[in-house]
Amino acid sequence: MRRVGPNSYTEVYFAGCNPSFVETSDGYVMIDSPQQPIDAVRWRERMEDKAPIRYLINTEPHGDHISGNAYFTNNTQVVGQVKLQECFERYLFAFGSLDEKRERFKETDPDSVWLVGHPDYPAVNPPTLTFDDTLTLNVGNHTFNIIHMPGHTAPQTSVLVPEEGVVFTGDNVFHRCRSWLQECDPWEWLAALKSIEALDVETIVPGHGEPCGKAYLKEQGQIVENWVGYIEGFVDRGVSADEILKQPVEVTKQDPYPIGQRLFVLDGRLTDMIVRNLHKRILDKKAGRGAA
Ligand SMILES: [Zn+2]
Repeated sequence: MRRVGPNSYTEVYFAGCNPSFVETSDGYVMIDSPQQPIDAVRWRERMEDKAPIRYLINTEPHGDHISGNAYFTNNTQVVGQVKLQECFERYLFAFGSLDEKRERFKETDPDSVWLVGHPDYPAVNPPTLTFDDTLTLNVGNHTFNIIHMPGHTAPQTSVLVPEEGVVFTGDNVFHRCRSWLQECDPWEWLAALKSIEALDVETIVPGHGEPCGKAYLKEQGQIVENWVGYIEGFVDRGVSADEILKQPVEVTKQDPYPIGQRLFVLDGRLTDMIVRNLHKRILDKKAGRGAA
């Protein structure tokens, strides 16, 4: 657990994303939820021992940010961008059903097995409070400026807390661990990094990796640009995505960092998805079809 502001914390060593919370004078506000069920229930109990959890804000629809929502049930309102609400269940079950998840946990996290599909947690808890561009919540003495910043995913959201000097970006920032560009719009992502740069904050809490400062945003942008330039070189020579993937992909030349937080099992699949996503988006852009 890392303190990132006077009253705000993030956990950078869980399997999955960096779930975070701010302790206000009127209860807690969480940003994303712990991926592993046992981590989620431990968090909830420790917080609710002190104060109620008023809101849980999801920054994006990837499973490591939303699957713990199920364990935050007692009067916690879930907040998300309107597109996140629409795609919530599709993403939640993208890596299999509850039964498949339970079987996987028998190998990877035995403490969580009994909590998967437990009758006390019948709901998956998608966002019920949504917004298009921005939403401001005032909780106790804190302000939460919730801002749609598409990039890493279409509903991608940043949560700025001015009183803490902190912004929580989800996976628009991967700090010194492998960047996931498997479904991103890379040009929107670069624009989002500029928007984050313009915020009046000291500390950035990334989706993965240690908290960092604005100086890292340039490097994050460079990684996105490296990938786009690399794949564009193939597109310009008429090389298809399948053909690119027949040869070794020069991953570490585009992005030097190792894959973070127990995600190594998806390493090969990630490279495949990045190449296919960027290839299609670059082709579409050149054909004037837009990326949406
Ligand atoms: Zn993500």
